[in-house]
Amino acid sequence: MIYIADYFAIGLVIIMFIFFWDTKTKYQNMPVSGKVFGIILMMTALNALVDLLSGWLLTASGVPEWLNITVNSLYFVTNVVTTSAIARYLFVRILEHTHHRHCMRNANIALASILGVYMLIVIVNLWTGILFYFDDQGNYIRGPLNAIGYFFTLLQMVFVLICYFRNKKTANRLMRRVLINIFPVVPVCILIQRMFPEIMMNSILIAFADVVIFMTFMSQRPGVHSLTELNDRYRFFEHVDHMISKQEPFHIFLINLKNFGSVNKKYGHVIGDESLYQFAFSLERKLWEGLSFHMNGTTFAVVLPYVSQNEEERHCGVLLDYIEQGICFGEYHIDVDYLVSHYISDGSEMTATDIYEIMEHSMAKCSSMNLRYIRCDREIRVELERKRYLRDRLSTIDSAHGFEVWYQPIKCLGTGRFCSMEALIRLREPNGTLISPAEFIPIAEQTGQIRSISWFVLDEVCQLLKREPEMAQVSVSINLPMTQLLDKGFIPRFLGVVDHAGVDRRQICIEFTERTILENFSQTQSIMNELNDAGIRFYLDDFGVGYSNFNCLLQLPFQMIKIDASFIRNQDENGRNLSTVRVLTKIFHDMNLTVVAEGAETQDEVDTLSDIGVDRIQGYVFARPMPRKELLSFYGDQKQT
Ligand code: C2E
Ligand code: MG
Ligand code: MG
Repeated sequence: MIYIADYFAIGLVIIMFIFFWDTKTKYQNMPVSGKVFGIILMMTALNALVDLLSGWLLTASGVPEWLNITVNSLYFVTNVVTTSAIARYLFVRILEHTHHRHCMRNANIALASILGVYMLIVIVNLWTGILFYFDDQGNYIRGPLNAIGYFFTLLQMVFVLICYFRNKKTANRLMRRVLINIFPVVPVCILIQRMFPEIMMNSILIAFADVVIFMTFMSQRPGVHSLTELNDRYRFFEHVDHMISKQEPFHIFLINLKNFGSVNKKYGHVIGDESLYQFAFSLERKLWEGLSFHMNGTTFAVVLPYVSQNEEERHCGVLLDYIEQGICFGEYHIDVDYLVSHYISDGSEMTATDIYEIMEHSMAKCSSMNLRYIRCDREIRVELERKRYLRDRLSTIDSAHGFEVWYQPIKCLGTGRFCSMEALIRLREPNGTLISPAEFIPIAEQTGQIRSISWFVLDEVCQLLKREPEMAQVSVSINLPMTQLLDKGFIPRFLGVVDHAGVDRRQICIEFTERTILENFSQTQSIMNELNDAGIRFYLDDFGVGYSNFNCLLQLPFQMIKIDASFIRNQDENGRNLSTVRVLTKIFHDMNLTVVAEGAETQDEVDTLSDIGVDRIQGYVFARPMPRKELLSFYGDQKQT
C-alpha cells in the first residue's frame, strides 16, 4: 500500500512511452525537446523502481547496511535529476523561439548549480545523516533535512517561472497551460503526503508532471507534418546533420509538386489535401530504405543511405516513375507537374542548411531551364558559391564598395546629337575587373538590395548633372524595378533627391526593367501619373521580351519605348524580326510615343533602323557604356565636331 503511488507512476510511464516511441525516427534524430522528454520518462520509471527497491530491501532480512544506504542515496539523487530534466524540458520549450542564446546558457547554469549543491548534500549525508540514516536495529530514520528535495524542486520551478515571465512574448504558447496545470499539482501532492505520510508521493508527483507535458506537447508528435504525417523540415535538418556528423554517405531527393494550386482549383482543397496525403504515403513506401520529409507546402524530401551508384540510380528511377504516374486514389487520377533536385553527398558538406541551399538553388535552375530533374553537380555548387559571394558584395551599395555608375549615350537620329543617355550600374572587383549587372541585378532583386542600387544610381546621376553644366541639354534614364514605385514615401524621396541637387526634373527619366505581369496596376498607375505631372518621364525598356504589352502602354504614362536588342540582332532569313520593328514603330508613332532601338552594333543596322524610322538608337556602334570621366571627354569631342 505504501508503494501504490510508485506502481501507479510506472504504469503511467509505460503508457506514455508506448505513445511517445516512434519506431521510424531514431532517438538521435529527435528534436531536443523529444530527447529530453525521453530522458524524463526513463528517469521517472527509474525513480519509482529505486523507491520500490529501497522499500523491498528494508523489509528483506540480512541486507547489509551499505546496500540500504546506497540505494536510498540513489533514490534521493534520481529524484532531483528527474525534476531537473523536467525543468530543462520546460526551459527548452520556453526558449525555443528566442534567439537569445544566453538565456539557455543561464538556465543550464542554474540547473547544474542546483544539482551540484544537492549532490554535495547527498554525499555529506553519508557521514552526517542529515537526510537519513539507519539506527542500530536497521530502521530508516529521517534526518533534519529529509524533505530538502522539495525545496530544490521548488527552486527549479521558481527559475522556470522567472524564465517564463522574462521571455513571455516568445515562449511557446502552450507553456501557459503547462504552468497552470503543473503548479497546483505540487501543493495537492504535498497535502496528501502530509495526510498520509507513509505513502511515497515523489514518483507520482513527477509522473503527473510528465502527463501534463505529454498531453500538451508530446501527444502532438512534434516534428511531424500535420497534413501528411511525414517528418517535418526541422527533422530533415537534424537528420541530415546527424548523417554528416557520423560521416554516413547519403543522397537526397528534393521534390516539388509544381503548380499544385491548379489541382486545388480543379478538384477543391479537400481532394487536394487527400492527394498530398496519398502522395506522401506512397512516397514513404516506394523509397522505404530512406526517411521521407514534408518540408512545406508541396515540397518533399527523401534522404537515403548511399550504397552504390547502381542503388542510387535505381532509387532515382523508382522515384521518377512514381511521380510520373500521377497520384491515384479512388476514382481520381491526378497528374502533377514536378521538379526533382538530387544531391549526392561527397563527404565535403558542412551542414544540412548548406545542402538545402544548394538544392533550392538547383531547383530554381531546373525550373528556369524547363527541366524536371537536376543533379546538384560541381557546376551548381560553384554557381551557388558565386551567388553567395555576390550577395555578400551587395550588402553595402556605395562607391567605396566598388559600385560605379556608367553611362551609355543614345543618338537622336533627327538631330544627329546624343540627346540622352542611360545610367548603368557596374560592380568593380578588388582586382579591377567588372562584374556585369546581368549577373548581380537578379540577385539584388531577390535580396531587395535593388532598391539601394536605384537610390545610389539616382544620387550619382544627380551629382553628375549638377556638376557638369554642359550636360544641361542631356536627359538621363535610370533603371528601376516597377515595384519600387509602391514603396512608402517613394515620390517625396525621389523628387527630394532631384530637387536637392538642383537638377531640372525633365532631365530625369525612369526605365522599367520589369519582366513580370504588373501587380497593383491601379496603384502603380496613379503613382506614375503623379510623378509624370511632377515632370519625371517614363520609358518602357526591353519591349518585346517579358510581359510588357499594349494594354499597359495605353494605360500608363510612357513617353518612350525601347525595342529590345533581340529584334534587331536575331534576324531570320525572311527578315521577320525587322518587319516587326517596322510595324511596332508605326504603331508607337501613331500612339505619339518616341521609339528607341537598343543594341545596334553595325552601320548596316543603323541604316536599316533609320529607314524604318526609329527616333533614337542606343548601341555599341555609337558608344559603349562608359565611366563618368570618359563620358565628359566623349561629350567634349562631340561638341568640337
Ligand atoms: P538594359 O536596361 O536593357 O540596358 C541595356 C543593356 O544593353 C546594357 O547592358 C548595355 O550595355 C547593353 N547594350 C547597349 N548597346 C548594346 C549593343 O550594341 N550590343 C550589346 N551586346 N549590348 C548593348 P548592361 O549594362 O550589361 O546592363 C544589363 C541590364 O542590367 C540592363 O539592361 C538592366 O536591365 C540591368 N541594369 C543595369 N544597370 C541597372 C541599374 O542601375 N538598375 C537596375 N534596376 N537594373 C540595371
Ligand atoms: Mg534599361
Ligand atoms: Mg533594355
